[in-house]
Amino acid sequence: MRIGFIGLGIMGRPMALNLIGAGHELAVWSRREASLEPLLAAGARGCRSAAEVAAQSEIVISMVADAPDVEQVTLGPQGVAEGAAAGLIHVDMSTIAPSAARSIAERLAARGVSMLDAPVSGGEIGAVQATLTIMVGGEEAAYERALPALGAMGRSVTYIGASGAGQVTKACNQILTGVGVLMVAEALNFARASGVDPVRVREAMLGGFAGSKVLENHGQRMLDRNFKPGFKAWMHQKDMRIVLDEAHRLGIMTPTSAIAAQLFNVLVGGGDGEQDTISVIKLLERMSAGE
Ligand code: NAP
Repeated sequence: MRIGFIGLGIMGRPMALNLIGAGHELAVWSRREASLEPLLAAGARGCRSAAEVAAQSEIVISMVADAPDVEQVTLGPQGVAEGAAAGLIHVDMSTIAPSAARSIAERLAARGVSMLDAPVSGGEIGAVQATLTIMVGGEEAAYERALPALGAMGRSVTYIGASGAGQVTKACNQILTGVGVLMVAEALNFARASGVDPVRVREAMLGGFAGSKVLENHGQRMLDRNFKPGFKAWMHQKDMRIVLDEAHRLGIMTPTSAIAAQLFNVLVGGGDGEQDTISVIKLLERMSAGE
């Protein structure tokens, strides 16, 4: 397929490389020249704008940061809509608010572009190994057409429902992982403060009811003190904001997400936003020490 890709960061770069590896033709654009280089070296065609990417593609994928970025690359000047031929499918794989995804999809539909919201879970490792979990909202016919591209980036691809349903699923996922990373940090900090080896505590718990991927992966990196991103703390703060904003709109309670959001606010406010989300353990350690 002729596929366009916009947003070549920690996640987008390996996802785009996997599309080339699966034999798709790739057109790419990025705001910083440096982000383009690994893709050009792998045989992708470089473009001067998102509109130029769209003009050469049957499907365009975006993997940027937040809703204003998706809006800019799709509906902004020199954006996807300006270059799109009739029948183009735009697949946004960034994590943004469900209401924003629905609004952008509606405005793209008015310009002849069918948008899928297809956020992912599985982190940088999943992106590199093409084992991402992909949760899709939008028109089912567009989903069927996009499946060969999605299948080259993920192992588990699920159609959830109408526009926004993929982002609702991702918000649910972030409730579990956002609260989960705090729970793991809290448990490992508790073990250490009790004078018991947190390495052994993690190992023991992995075999029991509290075992999880968050404990396995994030827990290991907390023990290794490996704060290199991965998943930047400010991105997790963004995702908690999405959960709280939607909960406000829906008039429902999300009490544990509210606590997680507060801690991510302090973590990012304290200057650790560009570090991995697991640096929340440093925050708990500092607060526990009364700093
Ligand atoms: P990242 O490393 O910061 O990459 C984001 C990329 O988007 C950058 O390459 C940046 O371009 C581009 N971008 C951002 N805003 C743009 C704009 N307005 N116009 C053009 N390009 C723009 O972030 P990431 O970790 O890959 O995350 C991307 C998305 O995936 C986020 O929504 C995040 O929540 C989600 N996600 C991340 C993970 C993870 O583990 N990292 C896991 C699941 C989901 P430049 O390079 O040119 O600056």
